[in-house]
Amino acid sequence: MRLIEIFYSIQGEGPAMGRPATFVRLAGCNLTCEGCDTDDKPALELSVPDVLGSLQGNRVVITGGEPTLQMEPLSELISLLKTQEKEIHIESNGTNLIPEEILEKINCAVVSPKRGSDFHLDFWAGKKNVHLKFVLGKAPWCWTSALLEDLVPSLVKERVWIMAYGTDQDMPGARVAWDLALHLGVNYSDRLHIRLKRR
Ligand code: SF4
Repeated sequence: MRLIEIFYSIQGEGPAMGRPATFVRLAGCNLTCEGCDTDDKPALELSVPDVLGSLQGNRVVITGGEPTLQMEPLSELISLLKTQEKEIHIESNGTNLIPEEILEKINCAVVSPKRGSDFHLDFWAGKKNVHLKFVLGKAPWCWTSALLEDLVPSLVKERVWIMAYGTDQDMPGARVAWDLALHLGVNYSDRLHIRLKRR
């Protein structure tokens, strides 16, 4: 698998916020969101057994980049994690469907659709183990309040999260995201790793 890094930390955002996990960060993405540094990082090649040997704890977050670009080794990794009874999380931009037999092995998939991309909302919204995380902000790939006011009412609110864009420690957009989440009756996500300057 092509990876950027593997590290042990605490999930800073989304439904598992505050929980410790090993992060397996895969290299490469099919989108080019303004401000994303994914493709600037050097990639390394590791076998699936090597990845398994690098894990700490019982929870694994597979992230990227876009993990679904490496579907074959990704499927192998998820299947082996399942046999080891790990708690499996994945983060994706939603543009590639994960086969049903692999998706059902995942405890929690967080799909963060990017505005203007083909993110298969109907597929993801119908899955009970999938949470939708919308990033609110001014960048072209981010969502506006008006767009989310139209989109969110058709979704299961318990599995929708609104998070502010930004990497400034004081998170200047957080209050707007908080207020919109409250108004729409959905979840607010902070970015604890940004506030605490951790990865
Ligand atoms: S989808 Fe995620 S990883 Fe890909 S370019 Fe956008 S922000 Fe970066």
